[in-house]
Amino acid sequence: MSAPAGGAVTAQKLPKERRMSSREEMETIKAMPRLSRAILILKLAGVVFFAIGLEGIVSGRYVLAVSFLGLGLFVSLLPIKVRINLCGRCGRKLDVGQAICPSCGVPNV
Ligand SMILES: [Zn+2]
Repeated sequence: MSAPAGGAVTAQKLPKERRMSSREEMETIKAMPRLSRAILILKLAGVVFFAIGLEGIVSGRYVLAVSFLGLGLFVSLLPIKVRINLCGRCGRKLDVGQAICPSCGVPNV
């Protein structure tokens, strides 16, 4: 057997035990249009901010709580504004409450 060229070495370092669900999730995120990906990241960030804010309430640090709950609210509301205006894939303007793009048929969840 002849040794493969140096480029293949990094691929072999990947761990074999990888949960299928999270890998598929990553593939889904990668396949997503950029706007949808940004919205998803903002949603996740909003959840994290809310969690930190609630933690602040529990521990009695209200400055922390208020600032992070406000940040979480802001981040959660931001994608909604984008969502009702533009299609995630083709960027076409959508009517308010219109879930499926009339141009490319992609549901904007
Ligand atoms: Zn579209």
